[in-house]
Amino acid sequence: MNLILFGPPGSGKGTQAEILINKYNIVQISTGDMLREEVKLGTELGKTAKSIMDNGDLVSDEIIMSMIEKRIIKPDCKNGFILDGFPRTLKQAKDLDNILNLFDILIDKVIEINVNENILLKRILKRASESKKTRDDDNSEILKNRIVVYKKDTLPVLEYYKNLNKLYSVDGMQNVAEVSKDIQKILT
Ligand code: AMP
Repeated sequence: MNLILFGPPGSGKGTQAEILINKYNIVQISTGDMLREEVKLGTELGKTAKSIMDNGDLVSDEIIMSMIEKRIIKPDCKNGFILDGFPRTLKQAKDLDNILNLFDILIDKVIEINVNENILLKRILKRASESKKTRDDDNSEILKNRIVVYKKDTLPVLEYYKNLNKLYSVDGMQNVAEVSKDIQKILT
């Protein structure tokens, strides 16, 4: 099973991905995690990405696609994967389709975790205050910018999958167990 999990920062996307990878024995592919790893390793790619990430803006489609291309064909993806934080632009979504076509891979479903924006902002500010700066992009101004970027660049991607009849939405204002239950319903 190949899935895409959508949701703005603070929507509980990471928690739900964790539940799904354990239940279905599939891998999570998070472009954010991959980029943070490159930053940690101090690679050229990491150096380019760091300042962009620190501002809460989007890393270029070229960088993201080069990472995805290599990742998606690894043997551990055979049983399925969850794309988390990707695709974030229409260009990425279309490029992804081209790559998947080449390898005869299909995205089964795209799940959107829907959250009320005001409550979301409260949640992410709480996360920022509790995080003790574990992530450089976890402070209120940057997080606000990330939501703006999400709306501008990423919401059109949802429209794209809606037109392909692959989009399913769950109410992300419920607790973790309830959101998880709703996702299970979509997947069975
Ligand atoms: P995330 O952990 O998914 O919230 O990603 C953290 C940051 O990495 C984002 O704010 C972007 O700067 C960058 N990033 C992650 N995934 C992508 C993507 N698919 N396209 C562009 N930038 C990305």
